[in-house]
Amino acid sequence: MAIAELVKKNAYEAAMENFDLAADALELDPDLRRMIKYPERILQVNLPVRMDDGHIHRFEGYRVQHSTARGPAKGGIRYHPNVTLDEVKALATWMTWKCAVVNIPFGGGKGGITCSPKDMSQGELERMTRRYAASILPLIGPERDIPAPDVYTNSQTMAWIMDTYSMTKGYPIPGVVTGKPISLGGSLGRNEATGRGVFYTVQCACEHMKLPIRGSKVVVQGFGNAGSVAAHLLDSAQAYVIAVSDSHGCVYNRNGLDIPKLMIYKEQTGNVLGFAASEEIKPQELLALDCDILVPAALENTIDGENAHTVKARIVAEAANGPVTPEGDTVLEHKGCFVIPDILCNAGGVTVSYFEWVQDEQHLFWEADDVYAKLERVMKTSFAEVLKMHLEHKVSMRTAANMLGIGRVAEATKIRGLYP
Ligand code: NAD
Repeated sequence: MAIAELVKKNAYEAAMENFDLAADALELDPDLRRMIKYPERILQVNLPVRMDDGHIHRFEGYRVQHSTARGPAKGGIRYHPNVTLDEVKALATWMTWKCAVVNIPFGGGKGGITCSPKDMSQGELERMTRRYAASILPLIGPERDIPAPDVYTNSQTMAWIMDTYSMTKGYPIPGVVTGKPISLGGSLGRNEATGRGVFYTVQCACEHMKLPIRGSKVVVQGFGNAGSVAAHLLDSAQAYVIAVSDSHGCVYNRNGLDIPKLMIYKEQTGNVLGFAASEEIKPQELLALDCDILVPAALENTIDGENAHTVKARIVAEAANGPVTPEGDTVLEHKGCFVIPDILCNAGGVTVSYFEWVQDEQHLFWEADDVYAKLERVMKTSFAEVLKMHLEHKVSMRTAANMLGIGRVAEATKIRGLYP
């Protein structure tokens, strides 16, 4: 690994740094600060799994509950070769502030397994998921900690977890996970909730910046669940999505890509490269394209102190969690770029997860239009609250969002008092 790589901050250090910035701006009491900053519980599990060739492979998994001050822990499960405990701790921390920013009654949690899901069969994935679900069983439950999909996990993964949990309890418990298939108590609108939430916040940001979405140029890094839906809605609002990327590469068309067709192409081929009427460009060129709105929707730390100066977009909408490092943030701020921070921008996913959990608990299911209308209200109200904090306290949008979220968690913690 290059030295520059080694000295780079990891996501957890970045999360801690952003916490301190917001806690300072809030002049948060030092005792409260110590109570809410660190994860409440961390579970590391050893996962022996029988592979298709008969040998047993050992995977490592994690579940972190950062906070249950405002309600059960909530957060996704990630399958990726680069998953580390520090990454999961960072993602769990962000979930706490995120749930508080959109004011839903959940705390923050996250899970992950260090694995290469693309190289595994469905059978291997199912056995690994069930073993993981059994191993984290003491922590999870509809009133305790509710997992959901994240990178390289999906509704099928959630169905396996729901089934494993239900079988051990002896009756069906759909509310233990969200992001389930509709046939198992999933919510209409959950699949596209994150991308839709991104779109609503981009609408608000464009209004604030007096930038019409119609005719604007958009670049999306990461054409997965969050990125492709955001791209599709922006395209439907007559923006030009000129470039998108996935883990295989980047495609570009200066006149705008045909997003509905690209979604079908990606579904059929598994990647965006080779799409008709597009040319391939390098990942570093994608970030530097002349555009109005940049949507990083892949992984953490993709915009850092080294490449942030190449970004030309006026708005950066963080569909991914933690795509901009603190050093990258400083550069973007100096350039006058308006950043919609992750804990606000991508909170549509957890908001509809909350709606799903409410529907499961009530055994009463809503129409898609109800879900969208409620989601739009939550996202636009939250955007307005963060913007107000940003303007009143003259802090970055990220610090403003953290101040709103951390302030709410601090208030709940203070009122609950200290046990014992
Ligand atoms: P996904 O697996 O559906 O999509 C991820 C996409 O990113 C894939 O297309 C993958 O090929 C691409 N990718 C991976 N590495 C890349 C790279 N180096 N350059 C460009 N593209 C790359 O995952 P997702 O659910 O869309 O999640 C994406 C991000 O959004 C993550 O940071 C996740 O934590 C965040 N997020 C997702 C949700 C949700 O509900 N899905 C909610 C909140 C936040």
